[in-house]
Amino acid sequence: MPLDSGATPLPPSTSTIDLHMHSTASDGALAPSALLERCAAAGLRVVSLTDHDSTEGLAEAQQVADQLGITLIPGIELGTDVTDGEIHILVYFPDITNREFQDVLLGLRDSRVGRARRMVEKLAALGKPIEFERVLEIAGDGAVGRPHVAQALVEAGHVESMREAFDSYIGHGGLAYAERMSFTPVEAVAFGRKYGGLPVFAHPYTTPDFPKWLPELSAAGLAGIECFYQGYDKVRIEEVRALALKHGLLLTGGTDFHGTGNWTEYGPGTTSVPELVLEPLFRAAGRPIPSRSN
Ligand code: AMP
Ligand code: ZN
Ligand code: FE
Ligand code: FE
Repeated sequence: MPLDSGATPLPPSTSTIDLHMHSTASDGALAPSALLERCAAAGLRVVSLTDHDSTEGLAEAQQVADQLGITLIPGIELGTDVTDGEIHILVYFPDITNREFQDVLLGLRDSRVGRARRMVEKLAALGKPIEFERVLEIAGDGAVGRPHVAQALVEAGHVESMREAFDSYIGHGGLAYAERMSFTPVEAVAFGRKYGGLPVFAHPYTTPDFPKWLPELSAAGLAGIECFYQGYDKVRIEEVRALALKHGLLLTGGTDFHGTGNWTEYGPGTTSVPELVLEPLFRAAGRPIPSRSN
């Protein structure tokens, strides 16, 4: 797998804000501390670590953020399956000290293990065997995810790239795809709200016909929508902006950086996220708005 070696020239950072990134606490390649160091090197001043179903990376990230003078927003990302695709909900500022909240995340992470096993079984039946143990080893301490299965498929020589692994086998509805215990989108939103968080509809164009979900999710407590995302052009940004206005949603944005060689490989800060997203977000969370001088 083309791990993020830093060898490829990266486009210049275009933002001081990146509210969507992953670390080794889920399916990212960089440890939280290394990620925050990359953020500092890229000139970022407000970031969020949004690992899948896990806040395990946040303590380490916070420690380094404090040292580097970066404001860190605690976050998670919750994946949900719908009939025709997936909806991912980012939750910003949840109460990560809440025991019940953490118990639910633990359950979600547990369900990922059985699901990875089912995908490995399906792959074997398709004549593409990989070792389940190897998948767990790649995931390390992090929440096991499809990117770990994808990496094992690349290593075994069954596919050339992670992209091909998703396209041919483990993408939603693919031949080796397996669902797992997860929330419905409404449940994910309600879960985020229940523990004081701000639920945000992530990378909306990944979800088929995403606008149809907004009335129901807004009623359930959706707070925002990810408007500034890797590859989103002006047309998309304007469409999301109009929908956000219509449904009273905040705008957020980030790279979805994983550091694992997928399409988010351009590094922290390479998605242009305007300063004006910060004030409404911090205000909605009841937090002090980070000053520009830090
Ligand atoms: P999971 O949480 O196990 O369902 O895996 C979701 C993760 O898989 C996303 O956060 C991405 O990192 C990755 N992913 C999803 N679709 C693709 C794709 N088509 N190519 C590469 N990575 C993908
Ligand atoms: Zn991911
Ligand atoms: Fe996502
Ligand atoms: Fe993500």
